[in-house]
Amino acid sequence: MNSFNPNDVAIRSGHFIGGEYVDGNERDGAHRMEVARPSDGVIYASIPLADAALVDRAVENAWQAFRHSGWARMAPRDRAKILRRFADLVEADAPTLGRLEALGSTRPIAQAVGWDVPFTAEGMRFYAEFADKLGGEVAATDHDHLGMTIAEPYGVIGAIAPWNFPLVMASWKIAPALAAGNAVVLKPSEMTPFSVLRLAELAVQAGVPAGIFNVIQGDGRVAGDQLVRHPRIGKVTFTGSTRTGAAIMTACAQSGTKPVTLELGGKSPQIVFADAPRLDDVARRIAGSITGNAGQVCVTGSRLLVQRGLADELAERIGKLFAELKPGATWAADTTLSPIISAPQAARIEAIVGRTLEAGATLRYGGTRVDGGAHGAFYSPTLLADVTPHSEAVREEIFGPVLTLQTFDTEEEALALAQHPDYGLAAGVHTADLGRALRFVRGLEAGTVWVNRYGRSADFMIPTGGYKRSGIGKDLGRQAYEANLRFKSVLIDLRP
Ligand code: NAD
Repeated sequence: MNSFNPNDVAIRSGHFIGGEYVDGNERDGAHRMEVARPSDGVIYASIPLADAALVDRAVENAWQAFRHSGWARMAPRDRAKILRRFADLVEADAPTLGRLEALGSTRPIAQAVGWDVPFTAEGMRFYAEFADKLGGEVAATDHDHLGMTIAEPYGVIGAIAPWNFPLVMASWKIAPALAAGNAVVLKPSEMTPFSVLRLAELAVQAGVPAGIFNVIQGDGRVAGDQLVRHPRIGKVTFTGSTRTGAAIMTACAQSGTKPVTLELGGKSPQIVFADAPRLDDVARRIAGSITGNAGQVCVTGSRLLVQRGLADELAERIGKLFAELKPGATWAADTTLSPIISAPQAARIEAIVGRTLEAGATLRYGGTRVDGGAHGAFYSPTLLADVTPHSEAVREEIFGPVLTLQTFDTEEEALALAQHPDYGLAAGVHTADLGRALRFVRGLEAGTVWVNRYGRSADFMIPTGGYKRSGIGKDLGRQAYEANLRFKSVLIDLRP
């Protein structure tokens, strides 16, 4: 995909309710929020901020569509056909969707078109295939009874997404919810509002009935909170920070004990033993994981734990890979280091690194703002050594390209260092010893463990989700499909 001119991208702003764009608020007048491009800080559009009346209108619309459009009642195979068409339209729209994604987020255009859009489409196909394959069960009862569970959609799913992969994160919520027969009201991050609007347009073009997939714009504390608390929302699914996840869980409890899926923050370790095969590959995995999307990835492997003796050599190789990256605007085809989402977030990264250095850490690489050539907030890939489990940069989720380095001698020591007091999202183990790898698979408190690799594949069957404060429930896999259904138990007495 070629570079593009950010000023040439047409933006359609608004909410998307009942199959059409809705411009403003119902009662509060036109409260709006300006939206800036992360690559250069230029304000390029604004969004309307949904108030309570607007949220109510979106959810009621979704509820009516759920009840009357036929989406939930149609033959599941027909629903699958529509979702496959939706996926085809998404894929064909890659030039437009990719530009919208790159313009407003931290995703470079080459990756947005080459990965984010096709991954979004393929996720739709994956869940379309569940629609007519997973249902309820007949239970083993005595001969005089028939017992079964019937799988039923919740009705309206309230979905709230973060800014770091706007399309992909939203699709992980929307695809299983729609395949299971629900209607959805999605609130994207106020920082990345536009690509999912295009997604909603394409859903209608594909034949998803108007009102089944709606998008509302707004900030979390008003629009997000109203959405979660709306009495017609049957289930909430959220991806974002652990702090917001806790607020949403509270709101779900207070507004009707709603079930909730929470995909939250992480501080994932990468454990490297001296016998790890192909050290260059290991270095590439580690550097790739902390610099991909400039470290703004929930599962980024931000804590490097290396067996003593190997640490200096590995650090050197990682440093060389850091130096190869090219910071630049997301609309430049050759950009390989993304901007930080906003100036305040870049300042936060800078402050955490500064305080960790003041407390005694050593700066091996990076530690500075860099010029991305477009006045955006860029931060250099950074490696901090001489840190302890109490160092701020080791404890806190930084959400930037900052890697910490700790060393260990024994397996026991490595495992103890790897366990984070709060987070348990993912972990990587690099070793040639199968028994050791499996001992770590068993011992690590993490929702995902990668062995001799780091990062997801396109195997959508493998679910993702956190242990501890990294979340509740799963995205992806069969689990995410089932989480969009509730199961009714039926027992019938067959005796005459
Ligand atoms: P955030 O929690 O600040 O915001 C996420 C979304 O929640 C936004 O749409 C926001 O408007 C909304 N929101 C904020 N307050 C709300 C409230 N009180 N009620 C309802 N909605 C509210 O997170 P972010 O900065 O957008 O994303 C980064 C975070 O997301 C990181 O912590 C990262 O680890 C996490 N994340 C996790 C996963 C995962 O799969 N576990 C994936 C991506 C990102």
